[in-house]
Amino acid sequence: MPAKGKLKSPERFIRPLVRNLDGYAPGEQPHISDIIKLNTNENPISPSPKVLRAIKKSADSKLRLYPNPTAKPLRYALAQLHCCQPENIIIGNGSDELLALATRCFVEPKSSGTKTLKEIARQTIQYFTPSYSLYPILADIHGARKNEFKLAQNYKLPNKTSLIKGKWNFQAALTYITTPNAPSGVGYKTKDLAKICKDQNGIIILDEAYIDFAEETALNLIKRFPNVIISRTFSKSYSLCSQRIGYFIAHPKLITAIDRIRDSYNTNGLGQTAALATLTDLNYYQKQFKRIIKARSQTSKILTEIGFDVIPSQTNFIYAKPKGLSAKDWFNKLRKRKIITRWFDTKECRDWLRITIGTEREMKKFISSTKAIVEKDTQR
Ligand code: PMP
Repeated sequence: MPAKGKLKSPERFIRPLVRNLDGYAPGEQPHISDIIKLNTNENPISPSPKVLRAIKKSADSKLRLYPNPTAKPLRYALAQLHCCQPENIIIGNGSDELLALATRCFVEPKSSGTKTLKEIARQTIQYFTPSYSLYPILADIHGARKNEFKLAQNYKLPNKTSLIKGKWNFQAALTYITTPNAPSGVGYKTKDLAKICKDQNGIIILDEAYIDFAEETALNLIKRFPNVIISRTFSKSYSLCSQRIGYFIAHPKLITAIDRIRDSYNTNGLGQTAALATLTDLNYYQKQFKRIIKARSQTSKILTEIGFDVIPSQTNFIYAKPKGLSAKDWFNKLRKRKIITRWFDTKECRDWLRITIGTEREMKKFISSTKAIVEKDTQR
Protein backbone atom coordinates (compact mmCIF):
# COMPACT_ATOMS: atom_id res chain seq x y z
CA MET A 1 0.00 0.00 0.00
CA PRO A 2 1.45 3.41 -0.86
CA ALA A 3 1.77 5.72 2.09
CA LYS A 4 -0.87 8.43 2.40
CA GLY A 5 0.04 12.09 2.19
CA LYS A 6 0.46 14.78 -0.41
CA LEU A 7 4.03 14.07 -1.42
CA LYS A 8 3.37 10.39 -2.03
CA SER A 9 0.29 11.00 -4.13
CA PRO A 10 0.69 10.07 -7.81
CA GLU A 11 -0.61 13.59 -8.47
CA ARG A 12 2.91 14.88 -7.94
CA PHE A 13 4.02 13.26 -11.21
CA ILE A 14 1.52 15.30 -13.18
CA ARG A 15 2.51 18.67 -14.65
CA PRO A 16 0.83 21.49 -12.65
CA LEU A 17 -0.79 22.77 -15.85
CA VAL A 18 -2.47 19.39 -16.44
CA ARG A 19 -3.33 18.89 -12.77
CA ASN A 20 -5.40 22.05 -12.78
CA LEU A 21 -7.00 21.54 -16.17
CA ASP A 22 -10.75 21.27 -16.80
CA GLY A 23 -11.10 18.85 -19.70
CA TYR A 24 -13.70 19.24 -22.43
CA ALA A 25 -17.15 18.03 -21.39
CA PRO A 26 -18.68 16.20 -24.35
CA GLY A 27 -22.46 15.91 -24.66
CA GLU A 28 -23.83 12.73 -23.08
CA GLN A 29 -24.16 9.58 -25.17
CA PRO A 30 -26.86 7.77 -23.21
CA HIS A 31 -27.75 4.14 -23.84
CA ILE A 32 -31.47 4.37 -23.16
CA SER A 33 -33.95 2.74 -25.51
CA ASP A 34 -36.34 4.95 -27.54
CA ILE A 35 -34.38 8.05 -26.71
CA ILE A 36 -34.67 11.14 -28.91
CA LYS A 37 -31.15 12.42 -29.04
CA LEU A 38 -30.99 16.12 -29.86
CA ASN A 39 -27.87 17.02 -27.89
CA THR A 40 -24.70 16.62 -29.96
CA ASN A 41 -25.62 17.90 -33.43
CA GLU A 42 -25.36 14.52 -35.08
CA ASN A 43 -27.23 13.91 -38.31
CA PRO A 44 -30.36 11.87 -37.52
CA ILE A 45 -30.08 9.97 -40.82
CA SER A 46 -27.82 6.97 -41.43
CA PRO A 47 -24.77 7.29 -43.71
CA SER A 48 -25.65 6.48 -47.33
CA PRO A 49 -26.00 2.78 -48.27
CA LYS A 50 -22.92 3.22 -50.50
CA VAL A 51 -20.89 4.28 -47.46
CA LEU A 52 -22.10 1.37 -45.32
CA ARG A 53 -21.28 -1.05 -48.15
CA ALA A 54 -17.78 0.40 -48.56
CA ILE A 55 -17.06 0.05 -44.83
CA LYS A 56 -18.34 -3.54 -44.73
CA LYS A 57 -16.30 -4.42 -47.80
CA SER A 58 -13.15 -3.04 -46.18
CA ALA A 59 -13.67 -4.87 -42.88
CA ASP A 60 -11.46 -7.80 -43.82
CA SER A 61 -7.95 -9.13 -43.21
CA LYS A 62 -6.45 -5.85 -44.48
CA LEU A 63 -7.31 -4.36 -41.11
CA ARG A 64 -3.98 -5.76 -39.91
CA LEU A 65 -2.16 -3.27 -42.18
CA TYR A 66 -1.52 0.39 -41.40
CA PRO A 67 -3.76 2.82 -43.27
CA ASN A 68 -2.53 5.28 -45.89
CA PRO A 69 -0.42 7.60 -43.69
CA THR A 70 -1.37 10.82 -45.48
CA ALA A 71 -4.91 9.77 -46.50
CA LYS A 72 -3.76 10.47 -50.05
CA PRO A 73 -6.82 9.18 -51.99
CA LEU A 74 -9.12 11.19 -49.74
CA ARG A 75 -7.04 14.34 -50.08
CA TYR A 76 -7.10 13.96 -53.90
CA ALA A 77 -10.88 13.49 -53.91
CA LEU A 78 -11.38 16.51 -51.62
CA ALA A 79 -9.05 18.63 -53.75
CA GLN A 80 -11.22 17.85 -56.75
CA LEU A 81 -14.37 18.72 -54.82
CA HIS A 82 -13.00 22.04 -53.58
CA CYS A 83 -11.11 22.97 -56.78
CA CYS A 84 -7.73 23.10 -55.06
CA GLN A 85 -4.60 20.94 -54.82
CA PRO A 86 -4.09 17.92 -52.52
CA GLU A 87 -1.24 19.98 -50.99
CA ASN A 88 -3.89 22.39 -49.70
CA ILE A 89 -5.46 19.66 -47.57
CA ILE A 90 -4.63 17.78 -44.37
CA ILE A 91 -6.89 15.10 -42.86
CA GLY A 92 -7.37 14.81 -39.11
CA ASN A 93 -8.83 12.36 -36.63
CA GLY A 94 -11.91 14.54 -36.54
CA SER A 95 -11.44 18.29 -36.98
CA ASP A 96 -10.84 18.43 -33.21
CA GLU A 97 -7.42 16.86 -33.74
CA LEU A 98 -6.48 19.49 -36.31
CA LEU A 99 -7.73 22.34 -34.11
CA ALA A 100 -5.42 21.03 -31.39
CA LEU A 101 -2.47 20.60 -33.78
CA ALA A 102 -2.91 24.21 -34.85
CA THR A 103 -2.27 25.44 -31.31
CA ARG A 104 1.05 23.59 -31.23
CA CYS A 105 1.96 24.72 -34.72
CA PHE A 106 1.22 28.44 -34.51
CA VAL A 107 1.21 29.51 -30.86
CA GLU A 108 4.01 29.85 -28.30
CA PRO A 109 3.12 28.72 -24.78
CA LYS A 110 3.10 31.47 -22.12
CA SER A 111 6.50 32.19 -20.68
CA SER A 112 7.47 34.07 -17.55
CA GLY A 113 10.02 36.27 -19.33
CA THR A 114 7.42 37.76 -21.68
CA LYS A 115 7.72 41.54 -21.96
CA THR A 116 6.61 42.97 -25.27
CA LEU A 117 3.15 43.16 -26.84
CA LYS A 118 4.55 41.25 -29.81
CA GLU A 119 5.62 38.40 -27.52
CA ILE A 120 2.20 38.40 -25.84
CA ALA A 121 0.49 38.20 -29.23
CA ARG A 122 2.65 35.22 -30.23
CA GLN A 123 1.27 33.41 -27.13
CA THR A 124 -2.37 34.37 -27.69
CA ILE A 125 -5.33 32.33 -28.87
CA GLN A 126 -8.54 34.29 -29.36
CA TYR A 127 -12.15 33.48 -30.08
CA PHE A 128 -15.67 34.78 -29.60
CA THR A 129 -17.86 33.74 -26.70
CA PRO A 130 -20.08 31.93 -26.83
CA SER A 131 -18.61 29.73 -29.55
CA TYR A 132 -17.19 26.20 -29.64
CA SER A 133 -16.33 25.44 -26.00
CA LEU A 134 -13.28 23.40 -26.98
CA TYR A 135 -11.22 26.47 -27.94
CA PRO A 136 -10.42 27.70 -24.39
CA ILE A 137 -9.56 24.16 -23.40
CA LEU A 138 -7.12 23.79 -26.28
CA ALA A 139 -5.53 27.09 -25.21
CA ASP A 140 -5.26 25.87 -21.61
CA ILE A 141 -3.77 22.52 -22.64
CA HIS A 142 -1.13 24.38 -24.62
CA GLY A 143 -0.49 26.90 -21.85
CA ALA A 144 -1.36 29.75 -24.18
CA ARG A 145 -2.92 33.11 -23.34
CA LYS A 146 -6.64 33.46 -24.07
CA ASN A 147 -8.31 36.53 -25.49
CA GLU A 148 -12.07 36.07 -25.31
CA PHE A 149 -14.34 38.50 -27.12
CA LYS A 150 -17.89 38.50 -25.81
CA LEU A 151 -20.48 38.66 -28.59
CA ALA A 152 -23.42 41.07 -28.33
CA GLN A 153 -26.93 39.81 -27.41
CA ASN A 154 -27.81 39.20 -31.07
CA TYR A 155 -24.64 37.08 -31.53
CA LYS A 156 -23.80 38.92 -34.79
CA LEU A 157 -20.25 39.24 -36.06
CA PRO A 158 -18.76 42.43 -34.56
CA ASN A 159 -17.50 45.19 -36.85
CA LYS A 160 -14.05 46.73 -36.57
CA THR A 161 -15.13 49.48 -34.17
CA SER A 162 -16.66 46.93 -31.79
CA LEU A 163 -13.61 44.70 -32.09
CA ILE A 164 -11.31 47.56 -31.11
CA LYS A 165 -13.62 48.53 -28.23
CA GLY A 166 -13.72 44.91 -27.02
CA LYS A 167 -9.91 44.61 -26.97
CA TRP A 168 -9.66 42.25 -29.94
CA ASN A 169 -6.00 41.43 -30.54
CA PHE A 170 -5.28 42.02 -34.22
CA GLN A 171 -1.83 40.44 -33.75
CA ALA A 172 -3.00 37.25 -31.96
CA ALA A 173 -1.11 34.19 -33.18
CA LEU A 174 -4.28 32.13 -33.60
CA THR A 175 -7.96 33.08 -33.89
CA TYR A 176 -10.79 30.56 -34.05
CA ILE A 177 -14.09 31.65 -35.60
CA THR A 178 -16.95 29.15 -35.73
CA THR A 179 -18.94 30.01 -38.84
CA PRO A 180 -21.88 29.55 -38.72
CA ASN A 181 -21.47 29.94 -35.00
CA ALA A 182 -22.32 27.49 -32.23
CA PRO A 183 -24.30 27.40 -30.04
CA SER A 184 -26.12 30.47 -31.44
CA GLY A 185 -26.48 29.04 -34.98
CA VAL A 186 -25.88 32.52 -36.43
CA GLY A 187 -24.40 32.57 -39.94
CA TYR A 188 -21.71 35.05 -40.93
CA LYS A 189 -21.32 36.74 -44.29
CA THR A 190 -18.08 36.02 -46.16
CA LYS A 191 -17.60 39.72 -46.87
CA ASP A 192 -17.70 40.46 -43.13
CA LEU A 193 -15.34 37.60 -42.30
CA ALA A 194 -13.01 38.86 -45.04
CA LYS A 195 -12.71 42.22 -43.25
CA ILE A 196 -11.51 40.48 -40.08
CA CYS A 197 -9.12 38.22 -42.02
CA LYS A 198 -7.64 41.25 -43.79
CA ASP A 199 -6.93 43.08 -40.52
CA GLN A 200 -5.61 40.05 -38.67
CA ASN A 201 -1.86 39.55 -38.49
CA GLY A 202 -2.02 35.90 -37.35
CA ILE A 203 -3.66 32.63 -38.31
CA ILE A 204 -7.47 32.58 -38.52
CA ILE A 205 -9.25 29.24 -38.50
CA LEU A 206 -12.74 29.50 -39.93
CA ASP A 207 -14.37 26.46 -38.36
CA GLU A 208 -17.06 25.47 -40.85
CA ALA A 209 -18.27 22.36 -39.01
CA TYR A 210 -21.91 23.26 -39.83
CA ILE A 211 -21.42 24.86 -43.24
CA ASP A 212 -23.72 22.52 -45.18
CA PHE A 213 -26.72 24.03 -43.38
CA ALA A 214 -25.62 27.63 -44.01
CA GLU A 215 -26.22 30.18 -46.75
CA GLU A 216 -22.59 30.73 -47.73
CA THR A 217 -19.11 29.31 -47.26
CA ALA A 218 -15.97 31.38 -46.76
CA LEU A 219 -13.86 28.78 -48.59
CA ASN A 220 -12.70 31.28 -51.22
CA LEU A 221 -10.94 33.32 -48.54
CA ILE A 222 -8.04 30.85 -48.53
CA LYS A 223 -7.20 32.13 -52.02
CA ARG A 224 -7.20 35.75 -50.85
CA PHE A 225 -5.49 35.40 -47.48
CA PRO A 226 -2.45 33.20 -46.72
CA ASN A 227 -3.28 33.33 -42.99
CA VAL A 228 -6.73 31.70 -43.33
CA ILE A 229 -7.50 28.03 -42.69
CA ILE A 230 -10.90 26.47 -43.39
CA SER A 231 -11.84 23.63 -41.07
CA ARG A 232 -14.40 21.03 -42.15
CA THR A 233 -15.68 17.74 -40.79
CA PHE A 234 -17.48 14.63 -42.04
CA SER A 235 -19.06 14.27 -38.59
CA LYS A 236 -22.16 16.43 -38.73
CA SER A 237 -23.54 16.75 -42.25
CA TYR A 238 -22.15 13.44 -43.47
CA SER A 239 -23.31 11.26 -40.55
CA LEU A 240 -19.80 10.05 -39.74
CA CYS A 241 -19.16 11.23 -36.16
CA SER A 242 -18.06 7.73 -35.25
CA GLN A 243 -15.42 7.53 -37.99
CA ARG A 244 -13.52 10.68 -36.90
CA ILE A 245 -12.61 12.40 -40.15
CA GLY A 246 -12.08 16.16 -40.41
CA TYR A 247 -9.86 18.29 -42.61
CA PHE A 248 -8.21 21.67 -43.06
CA ILE A 249 -7.89 23.55 -46.35
CA ALA A 250 -5.19 26.24 -46.49
CA HIS A 251 -1.99 27.46 -48.12
CA PRO A 252 0.41 24.49 -48.69
CA LYS A 253 3.02 26.10 -46.39
CA LEU A 254 0.57 26.02 -43.46
CA ILE A 255 -0.56 22.49 -44.31
CA THR A 256 3.05 21.25 -44.50
CA ALA A 257 3.82 22.79 -41.11
CA ILE A 258 0.85 21.08 -39.43
CA ASP A 259 1.72 17.84 -41.21
CA ARG A 260 5.17 17.91 -39.59
CA ILE A 261 3.68 17.54 -36.09
CA ARG A 262 0.90 15.10 -36.99
CA ASP A 263 1.01 11.44 -35.85
CA SER A 264 2.01 9.31 -38.83
CA TYR A 265 -1.22 7.26 -38.84
CA ASN A 266 -3.61 9.79 -37.36
CA THR A 267 -6.70 8.75 -39.31
CA ASN A 268 -8.01 5.20 -39.35
CA GLY A 269 -8.43 3.21 -42.55
CA LEU A 270 -12.17 2.62 -42.27
CA GLY A 271 -12.68 6.33 -41.65
CA GLN A 272 -10.78 7.17 -44.84
CA THR A 273 -12.83 4.58 -46.76
CA ALA A 274 -16.10 5.94 -45.38
CA ALA A 275 -15.21 9.54 -46.21
CA LEU A 276 -14.16 8.62 -49.75
CA ALA A 277 -17.42 6.71 -50.33
CA THR A 278 -19.35 9.71 -48.95
CA LEU A 279 -17.91 11.88 -51.71
CA THR A 280 -19.36 9.51 -54.33
CA ASP A 281 -22.90 9.98 -53.01
CA LEU A 282 -23.24 13.68 -52.20
CA ASN A 283 -26.77 13.85 -53.66
CA TYR A 284 -28.00 11.56 -50.91
CA TYR A 285 -26.73 14.02 -48.28
CA GLN A 286 -27.92 17.14 -50.06
CA LYS A 287 -31.47 15.80 -49.85
CA GLN A 288 -31.00 15.32 -46.10
CA PHE A 289 -29.70 18.89 -45.67
CA LYS A 290 -32.92 20.19 -47.27
CA ARG A 291 -35.04 18.10 -44.89
CA ILE A 292 -33.07 19.28 -41.87
CA ILE A 293 -33.28 22.92 -42.94
CA LYS A 294 -37.06 22.57 -43.43
CA ALA A 295 -37.51 20.90 -40.02
CA ARG A 296 -35.33 23.63 -38.49
CA SER A 297 -37.52 26.42 -39.84
CA GLN A 298 -40.76 24.63 -38.83
CA THR A 299 -39.47 24.02 -35.30
CA SER A 300 -38.22 27.61 -34.96
CA LYS A 301 -41.58 28.94 -36.17
CA ILE A 302 -43.61 26.92 -33.67
CA LEU A 303 -41.33 27.79 -30.75
CA THR A 304 -41.57 31.46 -31.70
CA GLU A 305 -45.38 31.21 -31.86
CA ILE A 306 -45.48 29.95 -28.26
CA GLY A 307 -43.44 32.94 -27.16
CA PHE A 308 -39.93 31.44 -27.05
CA ASP A 309 -36.97 33.47 -28.24
CA VAL A 310 -35.33 31.66 -31.17
CA ILE A 311 -32.14 32.85 -32.84
CA PRO A 312 -32.35 32.44 -36.65
CA SER A 313 -30.14 29.44 -37.35
CA GLN A 314 -27.91 28.46 -40.27
CA THR A 315 -26.88 25.17 -38.66
CA ASN A 316 -28.45 21.80 -37.85
CA PHE A 317 -29.47 23.04 -34.40
CA ILE A 318 -31.42 25.89 -32.90
CA TYR A 319 -30.74 28.03 -29.87
CA ALA A 320 -33.89 28.91 -27.97
CA LYS A 321 -34.82 30.72 -24.78
CA PRO A 322 -38.07 29.45 -23.25
CA LYS A 323 -40.93 31.53 -21.90
CA GLY A 324 -42.68 30.70 -18.66
CA LEU A 325 -39.99 28.33 -17.37
CA SER A 326 -36.22 28.31 -17.09
CA ALA A 327 -34.01 26.65 -19.72
CA LYS A 328 -32.77 24.25 -17.06
CA ASP A 329 -36.35 23.19 -16.23
CA TRP A 330 -37.17 22.80 -19.90
CA PHE A 331 -34.07 20.64 -20.34
CA ASN A 332 -34.88 18.45 -17.31
CA LYS A 333 -38.54 18.04 -18.21
CA LEU A 334 -37.70 17.08 -21.78
CA ARG A 335 -35.17 14.63 -20.40
CA LYS A 336 -37.86 12.96 -18.27
CA ARG A 337 -39.74 12.44 -21.54
CA LYS A 338 -36.62 10.83 -23.03
CA ILE A 339 -35.68 13.83 -25.17
CA ILE A 340 -32.08 14.88 -24.64
CA THR A 341 -31.01 18.40 -25.58
CA ARG A 342 -27.95 20.45 -24.56
CA TRP A 343 -27.95 22.98 -21.75
CA PHE A 344 -24.68 24.79 -21.02
CA ASP A 345 -24.36 25.88 -17.40
CA THR A 346 -22.39 29.07 -18.03
CA LYS A 347 -23.37 32.67 -17.32
CA GLU A 348 -23.78 33.44 -21.03
CA CYS A 349 -25.68 30.30 -21.99
CA ARG A 350 -27.74 29.09 -19.04
CA ASP A 351 -30.95 30.85 -20.16
CA TRP A 352 -30.87 28.99 -23.48
CA LEU A 353 -31.19 25.46 -24.80
CA ARG A 354 -29.42 24.12 -27.87
CA ILE A 355 -31.59 21.67 -29.76
CA THR A 356 -30.20 19.53 -32.58
CA ILE A 357 -32.62 19.09 -35.47
CA GLY A 358 -33.66 15.45 -35.64
CA THR A 359 -36.05 13.66 -37.99
CA GLU A 360 -39.50 15.12 -38.71
CA ARG A 361 -41.02 12.57 -36.32
CA GLU A 362 -38.54 13.45 -33.56
CA MET A 363 -39.18 17.17 -33.96
CA LYS A 364 -42.95 16.61 -33.77
CA LYS A 365 -42.43 14.77 -30.49
CA PHE A 366 -40.11 17.52 -29.26
CA ILE A 367 -42.70 20.19 -30.05
CA SER A 368 -45.65 18.33 -28.53
CA SER A 369 -43.60 17.61 -25.40
CA THR A 370 -42.52 21.25 -25.12
CA LYS A 371 -46.12 22.44 -25.49
CA ALA A 372 -47.27 19.95 -22.83
CA ILE A 373 -44.48 21.07 -20.46
CA VAL A 374 -45.38 24.75 -20.93
CA GLU A 375 -49.11 24.07 -20.41
CA LYS A 376 -48.46 22.10 -17.23
CA ASP A 377 -46.18 24.84 -15.91
CA THR A 378 -48.67 27.65 -16.56
CA GLN A 379 -51.52 25.66 -14.94
CA ARG A 380 -49.62 25.44 -11.65
N1 PMP B 1 -16.07 22.48 -34.59
C1 PMP B 1 -17.26 22.67 -34.03
C2 PMP B 1 -17.84 24.04 -34.02
C3 PMP B 1 -17.95 21.60 -33.44
O1 PMP B 1 -19.15 21.79 -32.86
C4 PMP B 1 -17.36 20.31 -33.45
C5 PMP B 1 -18.06 19.13 -32.84
N2 PMP B 1 -18.27 19.19 -31.50
C6 PMP B 1 -16.11 20.18 -34.06
C7 PMP B 1 -15.49 21.27 -34.61
C8 PMP B 1 -15.38 18.87 -34.06
O2 PMP B 1 -15.91 17.92 -34.88
P1 PMP B 1 -15.15 16.58 -35.22
O3 PMP B 1 -13.95 16.47 -34.32
O4 PMP B 1 -16.14 15.51 -34.98
O5 PMP B 1 -14.74 16.71 -36.65
